[in-house]
Amino acid sequence: MKDKDCIFCKIASGEIPSTTLYEDDDFRVILDLGPASKGHALIIPKEHYRNLYDIDDELAAKAIILAKKMVNKMKDVLGCDGYNIVQNNEEPAGQTVFHFHIHMIPRYKGDNVGLGWHVGELTDEVKNEILEKMK
Ligand code: 5GP
Ligand code: ZN
Repeated sequence: MKDKDCIFCKIASGEIPSTTLYEDDDFRVILDLGPASKGHALIIPKEHYRNLYDIDDELAAKAIILAKKMVNKMKDVLGCDGYNIVQNNEEPAGQTVFHFHIHMIPRYKGDNVGLGWHVGELTDEVKNEILEKMK
């Protein structure tokens, strides 16, 4: 399925040009236009899924296998010191393009890429609440 108003559908199909690092029947891998660091790339499926909540299982599995292949190659190409794999779901989590994608963000020693969170505390109350609701 494609969404005629979706920019990543158009990029994935080639209708809108992109800096493509890799392409197969299921995915296009492109450089992000607003990179967090040198080499920041996106894995974009050719079919439209809003995010991880609704992507096809088999395609999700293929996407993470492709991420593994890409970062193994790109760490050598870029000479980076680490990698973050990021995948945002819905606006409060930072999703701005509502077509599933995986960010591959190379990390370099001393870079100021702002990924992270303040470390909280897991209380017994919250732990028990979640465990109870998960049943
Ligand atoms: P999100 O915030 O949804 O997880 O990530 C969307 C990403 O897509 C952002 O990092 C943004 O820079 C990138 N992006 C948005 N529009 C375009 C585009 O037209 N071309 C490319 N290459 N990247 C885009
Ligand atoms: Zn789309």
